[in-house]
Amino acid sequence: MSPRSILSIGLAIQTVSIHAAAYCLAGQACFPSDDVLATFEQSLGGNLIKTLPYGSACYSATYNAEECLKLANQSQTFDFRESQAAAVMYINNEITKDGEGCPVPITTADGSPPAAINGSCTLGNMPSYVVNVTCAHDVSLAVKFAAAHNLRLRIKNSGHDYAGRSAGKGALSIWTRHLNEAVLIEDFSPEGVHGYSTDVVSAGPGVNVEELNQWGADNARVTIGGYTPSVGATGGYLLGGGFGPTAPHFGMGVDNVVQFEVITADGDIKIANSAKNQDLFWALRGGGGAFGVVTHVWLKAYPALAAVNTVAGPVVCQDRASYEQMINTLIDLQVPLNDAGHSVSQIWIGHNQCAIHSNYC
Ligand SMILES: Cc1cc2nc3c(=O)[nH]c(=O)nc-3n(C[C@H](O)[C@H](O)[C@H](O)COP(=O)(O)OP(=O)(O)OC[C@H]3O[C@@H](n4cnc5c(N)ncnc54)[C@H](O)[C@@H]3O)c2cc1C
Repeated sequence: MSPRSILSIGLAIQTVSIHAAAYCLAGQACFPSDDVLATFEQSLGGNLIKTLPYGSACYSATYNAEECLKLANQSQTFDFRESQAAAVMYINNEITKDGEGCPVPITTADGSPPAAINGSCTLGNMPSYVVNVTCAHDVSLAVKFAAAHNLRLRIKNSGHDYAGRSAGKGALSIWTRHLNEAVLIEDFSPEGVHGYSTDVVSAGPGVNVEELNQWGADNARVTIGGYTPSVGATGGYLLGGGFGPTAPHFGMGVDNVVQFEVITADGDIKIANSAKNQDLFWALRGGGGAFGVVTHVWLKAYPALAAVNTVAGPVVCQDRASYEQMINTLIDLQVPLNDAGHSVSQIWIGHNQCAIHSNYC
């Protein structure tokens, strides 16, 4: 099947689901009974979580001052939000368009516990059940269960999706964050590929940028990854393209994948690479999470660089000419630094201030 035809099918499926939109949500009569859910949980070795709104300690019906203070202090941090089965990075994605949810108050000026909120605390846009997956087989079971019961299915890794696609009211969610092992394989040949091998990091889809960088430091290797430590380096980041500090040297994240293991909508576990399921391999490298649930990736691993430099920050320039001169100087430095074994990338914020500020460049 050609890349163009796979894309047309993807779009056609999306169009149908937008019009049909008749998934069975938690709380509706069609949703699986407690007995059916208990059997499903057993098949998963107990890894099914019935979610609760994490902010309930701050609401009058269930108020607990000490817990609420802890929540107010922690709930804005990436670490806290990433550790929750039913949370995503941006609170607006946790709340439904009708305002349902359970937002936590911010810290008080004197550090005392926030007052109890008189209002309703509900899951809002968060899933009702989460499969905390430990292996590809769990994902396969979850996909088949969702298909059999017509459930809204979501995939969440770190929850960084700007558009909130890792959240979904009344959904069953596949949580991949704990598939975060990473090991070095030297001279790896993708299945069915002959005459080619490369060193790879063989990793679960839950490895975040910080963990991947640590893996590199431990193994004297370097691979791709983003700028923010908590972004899922082998999950949504990779499936969407993936740009980071080593991109000037090695290309985008997707340029460095040599093989995926993926669960497709029928629940089958498939290998996708340049020899097997090539259409899926093509679609996953940039097509996001629409084509299956990735359960393992094999990414090229390179010998460690002399240095990985990121130049980032707000720029305040005297005038446009000095701003351009600074950018040109950095671009001119890029090639000799790359040749000397450095990877240099630049993120500039606020260059439009050049005209109004007169400090330095
Ligand atoms: C603070 C911040 C910093 C960022 N920095 C960078 C950066 O430096 N470089 C860059 O390129 N991007 C960056 N991004 C964008 C980021 O890569 C995307 O938001 C990406 O989708 C996050 O993926 P995730 O798995 O961490 O998040 P999630 O929200 O968990 O997932 C994102 C999407 O991918 C899907 N998905 C996740 N895992 C799988 C899987 N295993 N199989 C199938 N589908 C899956 C989810 O369903 C969802 O639709 C940043 C985003 C934020 C919020």
